[in-house]
Amino acid sequence: MPFKSLGLCDELVRGILATGYNAPTEIQSQAIPAAIAGRDIIGCAQTGTGKTAAFVLPILHRLGQEQTTKKRVVRALIITPTRELALQIEKSVIGYGRFTHIRAVSVYGGASMENQVQSLRRGVDIVVATPGRLLDHMGRGSIDLRSVEVLVLDEADRMFDMGFIKDVRRIISAVPSRKQTLLFSATMSSEVKSLTAGIQKSPVMIQVGREFNPVETITQAVYKVQKEQKLDLLLHVINEHNMYSVLVFSRTKHGADRISKRLEKAGIKSIAIHSGRTQGQRVRALEGFKAGKFQVMVATDIAARGIDVKGISHVINFDVPSIPEDYIHRIGRTGRAEASGDAITFVSSDEHDQLRQIQRFIGMQIGVVKCPAFAAHESHKVDEVVPSLAEGSESGGEKKAAHGARRSRPGRRRRR
Ligand code: AMP
Repeated sequence: MPFKSLGLCDELVRGILATGYNAPTEIQSQAIPAAIAGRDIIGCAQTGTGKTAAFVLPILHRLGQEQTTKKRVVRALIITPTRELALQIEKSVIGYGRFTHIRAVSVYGGASMENQVQSLRRGVDIVVATPGRLLDHMGRGSIDLRSVEVLVLDEADRMFDMGFIKDVRRIISAVPSRKQTLLFSATMSSEVKSLTAGIQKSPVMIQVGREFNPVETITQAVYKVQKEQKLDLLLHVINEHNMYSVLVFSRTKHGADRISKRLEKAGIKSIAIHSGRTQGQRVRALEGFKAGKFQVMVATDIAARGIDVKGISHVINFDVPSIPEDYIHRIGRTGRAEASGDAITFVSSDEHDQLRQIQRFIGMQIGVVKCPAFAAHESHKVDEVVPSLAEGSESGGEKKAAHGARRSRPGRRRRR
């Protein structure tokens, strides 16, 4: 189905084609016509499905249809949990809207308030904001939300997890009650459901893929390993399998720095990204990783939220995430927009409970790849963990490590 048939105006179709997209993804095919028709939407979509364009395009369409020569006012407000996501969304607005005259700005913490005030003062049509910084602007009177026609709540579940929900409710109460509300969430918790019930009118419910199900193009594997051997195993798998664009997740900032330093020492170009870094450092790290200057980027969960890098070949969970949802978000950094990718999780003896929770959450067991030199001590073995679906095996049993960039399924798309 071409983008044109979704009802988007010519300028936007040109903008999308210039971005390099040929056809809408599933969430886009379903959400765009409904949003253009003015409906409220609940989009339950996994990360990497193309959900950003699913809300950005109808907003640009609406604003483009009724553009006036009068002073610009904020007509669309997009709330998102992290600064990286805010920047990413702003970039999408600018990219898809390159043939329109719509102006957008992102406002987020950790950056100069003054510059944002100046941009807002010059007049914008769309504001992309993290909740805390938006409230700061509202408190200073540097933003007027009285003309908002479309409100987007992006990654609503994450905003709950991060404790932003009071802020979000305050923001909602400051925008007109007559508006279109588009809510996107990877998971539909009871909190998210109660939030939508209070603000949306007969929303169209769109669910892409099975809830909680990691995108199907991602191959998942577990390596059982002793904690103190994880750094060596990391070096081993990166080298052994020629991994060229690897995102490693660490639970802590300190851990991320330690891993990155160790990789550098071993001659692997690596950079750490976490909330202890300034915004400038984070942007430079991300740009460097995107440009291929770093083979590995080591990130914490919060910092990784907005990472949208094409061609991440592998995601490695150095630590097992303690919140099962984080597992989905982490592995969703690879295999974006229906491309393929591999996700590997290192599991030490003290992390088996978390792994069990994740497997329960995603409704499947993850295959174990056996790497004899790094196998966890037998006494820690937890038999429930992974009985089947070992690498390359359909019927089960553990297999020797074969999990790398060189192994590929027919039809898999890989950047070399
Ligand atoms: P999102 O789920 O919005 O974070 O998007 C994930 C990735 O898919 C981003 O890299 C987008 O640039 C890309 N993308 C979004 N829509 C399409 C499309 N229709 N065709 C190809 N790639 C897309």
